[in-house]
Amino acid sequence: MPADAPHYQIIRDIRNALCYLKRSGCTGFDASEAGLKILNQLGLPPPPYGATMGRETLEAVCTDLGDCTRCVLCESRTHIVFGEGSPNAQVVFVGEGPGFDEDKCGRPFVGKAGQLLTKIIAAMGLTRETIYIGNIVKCRPPNNRNPEPEEIRQCLPFLKRQLAAINPHVICALGSVAARALLETETPISRLRGRFHEFSGIPVMPTFHPAFLLRNPEKKREVWEDVQQIMKMLE
Ligand code: SF4
Repeated sequence: MPADAPHYQIIRDIRNALCYLKRSGCTGFDASEAGLKILNQLGLPPPPYGATMGRETLEAVCTDLGDCTRCVLCESRTHIVFGEGSPNAQVVFVGEGPGFDEDKCGRPFVGKAGQLLTKIIAAMGLTRETIYIGNIVKCRPPNNRNPEPEEIRQCLPFLKRQLAAINPHVICALGSVAARALLETETPISRLRGRFHEFSGIPVMPTFHPAFLLRNPEKKREVWEDVQQIMKMLE
């Protein structure tokens, strides 16, 4: 049964409507985290294999990715950066792709931008162990250029499977490439940030990339406003 089968879509629509009413301050109905999580699970079809509690596991996705050569980024990478964190994370941060430091060690967001992200996560009262961090592409684009559309097309399905496996309450898209790829839009990040969008029934908050913040520290206030909205949603 495909994910866009009518009854899955209806359940996701109900969940989204409850989220919207809750965010708008309406009360008198069950929009608890537990209830929304159940609707999330009911709104997704069971995976074809590697299933745990009705969902594919991150390990199954990683195994399927293997020593990937699906796009040209495999030619210049040192390590695939699959993503890391809790498989039960309530929040998933999605970046653009690995940089120099991440390519060297195979872990996401470990360079200067990563250290700033770690501080943001701590300011939210969370830790890197309780959230999950992934990227739109899992191999470093040469000279840190933006990933090409074909590279995103090949790699993004694996991130989408990771998101389905984790089933988080909220996604934070870091920067223009991540926000545009997840939301399938050309709208600039400056117009996307500051409000929730949606990916597969999961609320998405786009905000500026930590690397952009390092170059434009005056934008930190806007990022803080964005993550505060995420924190509110998690209450
Ligand atoms: S970027 Fe993604 S699709 Fe391309 S080689 Fe790396 S893992 Fe495979």
